[in-house]
Amino acid sequence: MQANEILSHFGLTHAGDHPVHSPIDGAEIGRVGYDDARSVDAKIARSVEAFHAWRNVPAPRRGELVRLFGEELRANKDALGRLVTLEAGKILQEGLGEVQEMIDICDFAVGLSRQLYGLTIASERPGHRMMETWHPAGPVGIISAFNFPVAVWAWNAALAIVCGDCVIWKPSEKTPLTALATQSLFERALKRFADAPANLSQVVLGLRDVGEMLAKDNRLPVISATGSTRMGRELAPVVAQRFGRSILELGGNNAMIAAPSAKLDLAQRAITFAAVGTAGQRCTSLRRLFVHEAIYDKLVPALKSIYAALPLGNPLEKATLVGPLIDRAAFENMERALASARDEGGKITGGGRALEKEFPNAFYARPAIVEMADQTSTVCRETFAPILYVMRYAKFEEALARHNAVPQGLSSCIFTQDLQEAEKFLAASGSDCGIANVNIGPSGAEIGGAFGGEKETGGGRESGSDSWKAYMRRQTATINYSDALPLAQGIEFAV
Ligand code: NAD
Repeated sequence: MQANEILSHFGLTHAGDHPVHSPIDGAEIGRVGYDDARSVDAKIARSVEAFHAWRNVPAPRRGELVRLFGEELRANKDALGRLVTLEAGKILQEGLGEVQEMIDICDFAVGLSRQLYGLTIASERPGHRMMETWHPAGPVGIISAFNFPVAVWAWNAALAIVCGDCVIWKPSEKTPLTALATQSLFERALKRFADAPANLSQVVLGLRDVGEMLAKDNRLPVISATGSTRMGRELAPVVAQRFGRSILELGGNNAMIAAPSAKLDLAQRAITFAAVGTAGQRCTSLRRLFVHEAIYDKLVPALKSIYAALPLGNPLEKATLVGPLIDRAAFENMERALASARDEGGKITGGGRALEKEFPNAFYARPAIVEMADQTSTVCRETFAPILYVMRYAKFEEALARHNAVPQGLSSCIFTQDLQEAEKFLAASGSDCGIANVNIGPSGAEIGGAFGGEKETGGGRESGSDSWKAYMRRQTATINYSDALPLAQGIEFAV
């Protein structure tokens, strides 16, 4: 299916002043119109109205809508996966995987719709019952990044909708078409559901100013924002100023410790997938690799030969493992990071622009391995590109200390067969990240676990486990079924 066919499959027309280019070859694949302050305001108002109806629909019934949406995703997985590849440039396997992640979170949310449990708590007063109830929070603003153009919305939206909230989505300005396609699938599910309020899910398009409008608006009690740490640093105070709640999913600088007992064949595959998958443009991409000196001279040359043979190219082609970077700015950032790593003493293998002749208007980069003596300031920054900084270590404690000595705290892993090392890595004094794996790379999380990270990654949690609680408000309710009015703490207050 070509871009045009896919867009018409989703009922999308080329309308609007803003062209959308594919990172595969730079070609225009569609056009969209941007929202302005008035239309954003009107959409938020409609979202509030929809919320007033939706919050009263029983949660299991709300789950039925998400189940229908999951069916639409299943039926349209190929078309949406291809559009993800066309618009974001990730290889087709990953485009399809992203849609599968949407399907998985829908399944999770359907089950969750019957499990929005609160506690009952022993009251200290006779003839009293105390309980916790979870109520819908309100319309949720979702701001998403280009690199997971649809899955991250689904993590938020599937939960928010079963929790009784409405959603209003500002996708990345680099990937508006996948957002509109997803919205059209959601609307198909709505038609089959029949009795949902209009405007349960809406899309607002535009640059960061549209995101800022959502952040400022006190009709949106929850803002879930995924993107760079710079974005989170700007957005969080705006939401906090009005006492809104933000769920922040920001940049990572993820690492692996390859210990002496690591199974090297597994480690090599995990490293390569995590470092060059999505052309190094995952929040969980592997960026730092600490290799024990006993295996350094085996592992690092093996990685270099894997890198030399990596099939780079059009991400729609089956054999391709590394597609393009999102745009010129991403390539220039990679070049800048490599130049400053070199200035700091780094030894670079790979890097540089590839396939320039075939794709003069696109930016393919050769993944780079950079051997560093120290964890310099360049290594401590997240560069959203396929650069893997490799450092040698002698003692586990030293590797762990350097592992944690960066501002970000998203994902981490260790490859080891040594139980003590593995447990130390997972202990309170071990990895300081939101995600910590043993003998698994740092990327490619399942939706069942809570996803997110600490420090400059923002502290938010989305997806599985009890992440749903962020989309609801908690109410403690106490009922007095006695004939007296005893006060808590035994206070006497006779009138
Ligand atoms: P970005 O920060 O440039 O943009 C993300 C979104 O925020 C876009 O929709 C953008 O328009 C909007 N935005 C930007 N500034 C804003 C502001 N001040 N107020 C409101 N909205 C604003 O990020 P990007 O380049 O699209 O994505 C890459 C970044 O996202 C990387 O840092 C990556 O690590 C991070 N990311 C994190 C996660 C996670 O779960 N932790 C997931 C995916 C991506």
